Amino acid sequence: MKPLYLETMHSGLLEKKTRQAENIAGKCALCPRKCGVNRLEDETGFCNTGRLSQVASYNLHFGEEAPLVGSGGSGTVFFAHCNLGCVFCQNYDISDNQTRHQQVTPEQLAGIFLDLQASGAENINLVTPSHVVFQFLESLDIAAGKGLNIPLVYNTGSYDEPDTLDLLEGVVDIYLADSKFFNSKEAEKYAQAPDYPEKAREGILKMHQQVGSLVVDDQGRAVRGLMIRHLVMPSDLAGSEKWLEFFASQLPADTYINIMDQYRPAGKAFSYPELQAHVPGSVVAELKKKARELGLTRLDERASGFFRLMF
Ligand code: SF4
Repeated sequence: MKPLYLETMHSGLLEKKTRQAENIAGKCALCPRKCGVNRLEDETGFCNTGRLSQVASYNLHFGEEAPLVGSGGSGTVFFAHCNLGCVFCQNYDISDNQTRHQQVTPEQLAGIFLDLQASGAENINLVTPSHVVFQFLESLDIAAGKGLNIPLVYNTGSYDEPDTLDLLEGVVDIYLADSKFFNSKEAEKYAQAPDYPEKAREGILKMHQQVGSLVVDDQGRAVRGLMIRHLVMPSDLAGSEKWLEFFASQLPADTYINIMDQYRPAGKAFSYPELQAHVPGSVVAELKKKARELGLTRLDERASGFFRLMF
C-alpha cells in the first residue's frame, strides 16, 4: 500500500494544499486558538512559532506502539512548542513555548525526513504537528519529490481545527491521536483549552472517516488508519470511562486504542496537588476490562510501565 501523499503530490494537490495551509497561517487559524497572527511575517501566537518550524530532536524511536516500530523504528520528528498548554507535559522542555530550539527551513525539514528513511525508519512520525501544518506540508512536497515513500504519522494532542484536518485528507496515512480531557473544566484548568473536548471528539471522528481503522501489513507494520492513545490521569481527571463509552458508541469495535498507564508528575504538575499522585495499576486494569465489556476489541496490550516518551 503506497503512502497517500504520493498520489496527492503527483496530482499537484499537495502543492495546492500547502498553499491553502500557508494562506491560513497568514492570519493564523491553523488550530482552534485562531490567534490571527501573520506567521508568514514571523509573528507568533500561543504556540510561539513563526514562519519556520523548530525541531527539538529527531531519531529512530523504539518506544512507540509496536505497529509503528516494526524492525527499523519509528522515524520521530519532535517539533518544539505546542498549541496546548498541558501543565503536566512529560516533554515540558520541548513543549513549553518559551525555550528556543533549532529552526529548520523547508529544505532542511525535508532532509530530516529523507535521513530518517535512509536510516531504516518504518514511517515519518510527526510529534506535536498541529501548529506546524503548513511547514511540514511544504517539506513533505519536497521530500516526496526526492523519493520519500514511507507512511506519514500525524502524532497529535488532538487540539486540531477541523478545517485543517480536512487539508490533511489524502496526505496523512496514520493518525496517532491523544484523547486527553473529556470535560471542559479540566481542559481549561490543565491545558488552557476549554474547547478541547469538542474539538478532540470531532477531530478523532474525522480522522477515522479519512483513514479508517488501523491496517497493518504482513509483518504487522502500520500502513494506514487511526490509532488512539488515552493517558489515564489521577482522580480520573481525563474522564476515562466517558472516553471509552464515546469510542465504543461512535467508532468500530476494531479501533486501535492504547490505554496508557505511564502518567508521572512532570512539568508544572508540582504546583497542583491533585496531579502529584500516580495512577494505580488496578485502575488501568479496570479500564481495560471496561473497554472490553463495551465491545472494543483492539487494545494495545503492552506490559505496564512502558514509558513511551523516553528517547
Ligand atoms: S497554530 Fe499557533 S499561532 Fe496558529 S492559531 Fe494555533 S496557537 Fe495560534
